[in-house]
Parts: sequence; structure tokens; C-alpha cells
Amino acid sequence: MEANGPMLAQARETRKLQQADVARAMSDTLGEPVSQGYVSRAESGKVAVAGARLEAFSQVLGYPVPTLCEPPDPESAVGLIHHRKKASLGAPALRVIHANLSYQRRQVDRVLRTSGTRELGLFRLPASAEDSPADIAGILREKLGLGDGPLADLTAVVEDAGGVVLRRDLGTRELDAVSLWPEGAFPFFVVNDSAPADRMRFSLSHELGHVLMHEKPGATPVQEKEADQFASEFLMPAAGIRNSLRGGLDLATLEKLKLVWGVSMAALTRRARDLGVLSDWQYRNLVIEMSTLGYKLQEPVHIRPEFPSTVANVVSDLIHVRGMTVEQLAATAGLFPAEFEQLYLATSSQ
Ligand SMILES: [Zn+2]
Repeated sequence: MEANGPMLAQARETRKLQQADVARAMSDTLGEPVSQGYVSRAESGKVAVAGARLEAFSQVLGYPVPTLCEPPDPESAVGLIHHRKKASLGAPALRVIHANLSYQRRQVDRVLRTSGTRELGLFRLPASAEDSPADIAGILREKLGLGDGPLADLTAVVEDAGGVVLRRDLGTRELDAVSLWPEGAFPFFVVNDSAPADRMRFSLSHELGHVLMHEKPGATPVQEKEADQFASEFLMPAAGIRNSLRGGLDLATLEKLKLVWGVSMAALTRRARDLGVLSDWQYRNLVIEMSTLGYKLQEPVHIRPEFPSTVANVVSDLIHVRGMTVEQLAATAGLFPAEFEQLYLATSSQ
């Protein structure tokens, strides 16, 4: 077996290690000097990595040898991943997030394939002059039989429709969610563990809009606006929410509506303005009032966090019904058993 260079590089990124860190740890493992230049050449495929050196990479990077020898997902190309990029999130942080997303998607894909096929209720429909983002949100609601009321559990809606959601620490507060939908696979979403539930729901809805409407992610202002418009209509359909926003929106009403609709008071206020229920002047006054009270940093009421269950249920089924061992499942996912257990069996991280 021989290592695949790009897989070595991605594996290192998932561990947030520099090439020099890997070289140092490999030197310790092998008891002979390994240079940063060697790690660099190995990652770019300029030297063949096999035998003891491959074992050392496996130990240092914490992935079984076969994982490091696979070709990387073609769809893991950076350009196919949707995320809301903030200026403060630099290229190194993004590389870590992309590498993790690719590895996580691969792990989940292998485990789900072992279990069988799943129905997909989601569809691609590019936003256009005929179909606005709000129209597409409406079409999806109708297809999934969701009516026009509040969505009590958005994560369950996405998972029931065939999407896969993981809650993970994205290692930053600058990014609330990332998504990708490779051809022939499931739409995959990773939401940031540290985001408050209302923000997480809006971000998941925003990402859902991206994967449905934008086959080629560009992180352009137009795509971002369309994803936000989709998210607003999907979480707060005009037909269902308009009446509740009428009649003098104040903070007490916003707090109640937040609990019902599972969206932030700020999002409700924007929605009321966009639907023409609040004038620009009323909108500005409410925003100033909330800002003075410090609501931009923290709003007064909190909604229940959501936890995905698809992957956890499949893993549990494979173990308890199909009789697979943790070791077998870990090998399937391309992980060592201890990490598989920590990532996919500890309920807190699901
Ligand atoms: Zn976006």
C-alpha cells in the first residue's frame, strides 16, 4: 500500500498540524530524522510513502493506513463547499474546515452505505426569474407537506428529507454552518456546535437554500442574498406569519414569537419589515431599542437546541440489529475505533 499525497495533506489539516509538527512527531516515532521537506514532498506525491514511513504517518495523523491510501473525494474541491465566509476567517482556518468536511462526509457516507439506501425528498432548483428563492422555499414546504406554520424541529425536517446533518465544533465563531451536495450523494450539512439554536436554525435553512439553488457555489453576494431569502421564507412563510407580525410589534411580542417560530427576534423584525408590516421607521426604532438592550450580543429568550439523529440511529442499528462491532464500523468509516466511538457513539457530539 502506498499513501495518497493529498489525503495525507487533508488528514494533517483535520488535525490542525503544520508539516513541521508532523515531521517532528514522525522523527520521534521512527527514531530517525524526518524533515519538513520530506512531509511536503510526500503530500504533493513527489515521493512514494510506504512501509514504516506510512505506518508512522498513520500513527502521527491518527488515521488507519487504508484511509491514507484512498484517493480524496473529487467533490471535496474547495469550490464546491458552501459557507458564509467572513473576512476574519483566513485561508488556513478554511483549509481545516474543508478538510474536516471532506473527511466527515466520507465517514458518514461509508456508514450510511453499509446500512442501505435512503429516500431523498430534496431537489435541485436554481433560483431564476420564474422561481424566486421564496417560491422555491414554498415548493419545498409543499413537497414535504409542511404547511405554512412554524417548524418545531428543522434538523428533523432536513434529515427526514434525506439530508445528513452533523453537529460539530467548527473551531470558530465566524462560521455557523457548511454544506455540500455532491452529485449522486446526499446533501451534507455540518452545523457549529457553539451557535445558539435560533442562529443554528437560520444557518441550516440558509445552507439548505444553497444546496437546492446553487449547484456551483460562489459565495457571491447574490447567492448569499438568495440563501437568506430562502431561509426567511422556509422558516417564516409569509402566509403563516404575516398576521402574527401585525398590530404594533413590540419586544414582548417578539419574545413570544421567537419561542413559537424558533428564529431570533432580529430575524422576526427583519421579516416584518420585508413583508411590509413594519415601516422602515418602525423597523429602525425596534433595532435601536434591541441594540441598546444588548440584544445584538444576546437576546433575552432562548430556544431549545436541535440535535440530528440520522447517523446516530443508523450506527445504533448497525451495532444492535445487524451485529456489527465498533471495530468493523470504525474500519468502514476509515477511523480508529476510539475516535469512531468518540465521534459517532457519544450522544453529546451527535
Ligand atoms: Zn451562504
